[in-house]
Amino acid sequence: MNSNHINLKGLDRIELESYVQSWGEPKYRAKQLMSWIYQKGISDFESMTNLPKSFRHTLSSQATISRTEIVTSSVSTDDKSIKYLFRLSDGKQVESVLMFDQQRITACLSSQFGCAMGCQFCATGKMGFFKNLTTAEILDQFMGIEQELGREKSITNVVFMGMGEPFANYKPTIKAIRLLCNPETIGMAERRITVSTVGLAPQIRRFANEGLKCKLALSLNATTNADRSQLMPINFQFPIDEILSATKHWAKTTGELATLEYVLIRGINDRTKDAERLCQLMANLPCKLNIIPFNEIEDSNFQRPDANAIENFQKIITQNHYVAPIRFSKGNDITAACGQLRTIYHQAGKTMTGMI
Ligand code: SF4
Repeated sequence: MNSNHINLKGLDRIELESYVQSWGEPKYRAKQLMSWIYQKGISDFESMTNLPKSFRHTLSSQATISRTEIVTSSVSTDDKSIKYLFRLSDGKQVESVLMFDQQRITACLSSQFGCAMGCQFCATGKMGFFKNLTTAEILDQFMGIEQELGREKSITNVVFMGMGEPFANYKPTIKAIRLLCNPETIGMAERRITVSTVGLAPQIRRFANEGLKCKLALSLNATTNADRSQLMPINFQFPIDEILSATKHWAKTTGELATLEYVLIRGINDRTKDAERLCQLMANLPCKLNIIPFNEIEDSNFQRPDANAIENFQKIITQNHYVAPIRFSKGNDITAACGQLRTIYHQAGKTMTGMI
């Protein structure tokens, strides 16, 4: 991609209107461009036959529409998930995962390359942070996967649970969500999008006021500040009380149930007293709980609890009348499960350690 060319993918309607007007074209060209970019998946301006020839030439010399290349993909042995490695225009590589569950086809998208949050149970956290993805780079993952799926199937749900903390890249992520949900582009229902956060309290409150009907998942994973700070350093900045209060605000403002995610780790957060405290934390919060048995990663001593311990933990929660399904992540055998994404990439002769 020529770096002097403006990338039209990722511009919202108003930005695109002002761009076409800057070339003396009427506003409705923006709608035509959106249809070519997102609905028809065309990135060659010369093929956009309802645009005047002269404007097509201008666009070809001044603008571009990014496409992200899929470098590799791996399919899990149960055929229920596919991990994609995308090469961004700057050569960096990010991963996205596609999961099949009956009629539901969920794309798990990355919002950052690497992650600064440093959660101890997560391979991406161990990679460190490299950059925020642009709105176009987030959308490119979605569109690249859609293209791979072909005409017969479509993504039905999106979760922002790939590499990175979406609220640490707030504006590009929200803009990507709005473009995904715009009927003039992809037209995905807001309810089918879930944003998962480690608990950036100010952004959770801000998200409540976006007017979006998307879902919110809070990655809790511990029931005391001492334990949570060990697992998730962000807890020093935003302790449990504060993130639950922000999540409650979100639930009240949107009228939705929040989802608490609880990665269950042997001997760390799977004790009876953890389950009991978890019930107390949930008592005043409109929420449901997902118990996620830990997916083992390299360079970590953490282990998944055995089946009995997982069941016992769940039993205590359900005896207290909370819904608490156990979610075994898909794609463990291709390291595509929750917390396993980490990229190996080569840049300027340098190999970054990481995932795949
Ligand atoms: S769990 Fe999410 S926020 Fe935490 S380090 Fe991993 S990618 Fe970052």
